[in-house]
Parts: sequence; C-alpha cells; structure tokens
Amino acid sequence: MSKDFTRTPIISDMEQCKEILWINPRGGEHSELPFSMADINDAESRLKRFAPYIMAAFPETEATQGIIESPLKEIPNMKVKMEEDAGISLPGRLFLKCDSHLAVSGSIKARGGIYEVLKFAEKVAMDAGMLTAEDDYSILIEDSFKELFSKYSVAVGSTGNLGLSIGIISAKLGFKVTVHMSADARQWKKDLLRSRGVTVVEYEDDYQKAVAEGRKEAAKDPFCHFVDDEGSSDLFLGYSVAAKRIVSQFEENGILCDENHPVFVYIPCGVGGAPGGVTFGLKEVFGENIHIMFAEPTHAPCMTLGLITGLHDEICVADIGLDGKTAADGLAVGRASRLVGSIMETLLDGCYTMEDHNLYPYLSKLADSEDIFIEPSACASFSGPLQFMNSEEYIAKHNLADKLENSTHILWATGGSMVPKEEMESYLKASH
Ligand SMILES: *Cc1c(COP(=O)(O)O)cnc(C)c1O
Repeated sequence: MSKDFTRTPIISDMEQCKEILWINPRGGEHSELPFSMADINDAESRLKRFAPYIMAAFPETEATQGIIESPLKEIPNMKVKMEEDAGISLPGRLFLKCDSHLAVSGSIKARGGIYEVLKFAEKVAMDAGMLTAEDDYSILIEDSFKELFSKYSVAVGSTGNLGLSIGIISAKLGFKVTVHMSADARQWKKDLLRSRGVTVVEYEDDYQKAVAEGRKEAAKDPFCHFVDDEGSSDLFLGYSVAAKRIVSQFEENGILCDENHPVFVYIPCGVGGAPGGVTFGLKEVFGENIHIMFAEPTHAPCMTLGLITGLHDEICVADIGLDGKTAADGLAVGRASRLVGSIMETLLDGCYTMEDHNLYPYLSKLADSEDIFIEPSACASFSGPLQFMNSEEYIAKHNLADKLENSTHILWATGGSMVPKEEMESYLKASH
C-alpha cells in the first residue's frame, strides 16, 4: 500500500467488497471546468453535419435522419417490481434511458466512440482538400474517401463495447482498425468485430493493459489515431451531446426539472468517460436540480475510490486489495480516467456499488416486466433510486423532503441490444 490516503470507514467497507453509498460532500460546489457549453454545441453540430453520411452508411438510422439517439421510456411495471422486492415505495416516476438500444453499436459507446472517429475522419478529409463543412457529408461513402482513409489506421483498448463502436464505424469509413481487448471482453464481441474486418488483439490481462498495448502500438505509427479511453476529450464531448437531445424527451414525457421537481439520474461507471461526459452535459443544460449518481461493481469501484481519496487516477482498486473482476464486463476497470475524475469532483452528487449477484435479477425483472433486454453492466445502476431516496443525509443535504413526490428517476441503460440471443438466455438463466 504505497498510496497516501486515510482509510475511512467507507473505504474499509469497499476493501471488504461491501456495497456502499457515498454522498459527494463537494457535489454542487462551484469550480472551473476545462469545457463549456460551446464545446457541447460544437460536438452536436459536427454530429449534425455527419447525419447524412450516417443515414447512408447505416440505413437503420433512416427513421432518425442519421442522428443516433435512444428513447427515454417510462417503466412503471419495473417500478412496481422494485418496490415489491424492497418492501418500500419509490416516490416519483421511473424511466429507462435506452442507450442499450442505440443504433450502430448497441451501447452508450455509440455516442462518444463514433463521435471521436467521425471527428478524425473529418480532419483527414478536410486536410486532403476533399471536404468542407458546407458539403453534404454523404459523399463520404464514396470510394475516393475509402481510399483516402485506408492510408490511416485507428486503434483502441477496450473491455468490449468501446471496441465495438470504434471498430464498426472505423471499418465502415475505410480505416484500418485494431481493437485491443482485455480478458474481460465477451467472445461474441470479438467475433462480431472480426466479421466486419477489424483486427482484434486479445490479452490475458485487464483493461489497463489492453489500453497500454494499444497506445504503444499506435505510437509507432504516425498515421494511426489512438482513441484514448483513459483521457480523451473527444470521447467525453461526444457523450455530452446526450444532454441536449434529452431536453425534448423531457418535454414529450411531461418531465420537469426545476427547484420543486428534482430529476435523479443513475449511470453505470467504468473508466468514467461515458457517464462523466453525460453528467457534464446534463449539469450544463439543467444545473443543480438534476442529481447524478454513478454505479460501480463492488470489485471495481475505481471512480468512487478516486473521488473519496481525491487521488483520482493516482490510485487503483488493487491498492485496497480488490481484484477488479466482475460480471459487469463493461465496468471491469481498476483505475479511473485521468481526465474525468477531477471534473466529477464538484459535478457528481454521489456513488454507490453493487454486488455481481444482484445484477442478473434486475436484468430478468426488466425483461419480464417491460420486455426490455439489457446487458449485466447496464444493470449496475438499478439499486440506486431506492437507496438514495432512503438516504436521510442526501435528502437533508439538498432539502428534498417535500419534493420527492414530484421527482423523476432515470436509470441509464448503457448496453445490450447487440447481445446474441443465446448469450442473453444465459444471463436470464443466471438470475434464477
Ligand atoms: C463502457 C460502458 C459503461 C461505462 O462507461 P465508461 O466510460 O467506461 O465509464 C457502462 N456500461 C456499459 C454497458 C459500457 O459498455
């Protein structure tokens, strides 16, 4: 134990793999952030420019005119189930943000991952004098662009879903692409990528090692763009656009977010890029009346540990004796992003952890009650609403007691629609 930190009671619980709930004492403080609304707008505009290309390359996105966005669905039957199981009621309405069903790559990574590759492609095409911001970007499907992009490559290290999103979009554009997969990555994700012409390199090691190897490989090649999941601003801003798009979904569903109508959002966290980007966007758009909590597995609570100790990426879960192994493969990360931890210091409202054996029951309850199928990682957040609504400390801190009946809870479902049928059946079996 080389790191200098105080072993508080909550850290002792984490060391013993107990489920914990942590309220961020600095949540809501003012601080200087490295990004602003202008950066979110820039990312949103870029995705709009690319919409004609996305629609042409992925016909499944025709219905949304090439904008990759997911539904926000109320899940009242699931709410009843969760209340029955816990024997307590949840004030307010319960929704699922279905990033599990995002087009192209079936997870939240279809936001940041695809955005970063598109931004790289735009730069390459513009530098070559073949594209301007005023063009109809559907020309990017032409062979001349594939030929241009084939001179470049893209590399990424991943536990699975980021690899899927980067691999699929890069291969479609015509880039050579290599995905470095950690041992946690599911076989079907590797198979799917290989079927699309992606080079998949497998490691017996964890996520951090896969990222390090990817970085090393990419550094040797000046024509290679490395997607750095541990610190990329492009990924972060791609995720943040979700916040602008959810505004109209709030209106359609009659969801208010103001001083008397708090909204609570619960998001599973791995390295922190995806939930961090979404959080930054939501806080920019809605301010302090949107409350955001991250969920992590008890064996890999890297963001929680980094925030509690203030050490961020200077500490990893092995430093408190945890193995980082979890059935929530998308969250099997031992060390938080070097970019995101410090931004969450004042934006995030709290964290909580969930044991693996509690994931699968939520997965099957959601399937039974709402006919929605998501992957284990995406279930990590489900214990959040009842825990936070029963935290007297949290309610008092934000003066919420008489507002809870007007509240909205949003579980961010981060992945699942591409899971093969047999694999999903094995998850459902595991819950019984
Ligand atoms: C990647 C992922 C997350 C978390 O995103 P991070 O950027 O790693 O924090 C959560 N759920 C699923 C299904 C994911 O694929």
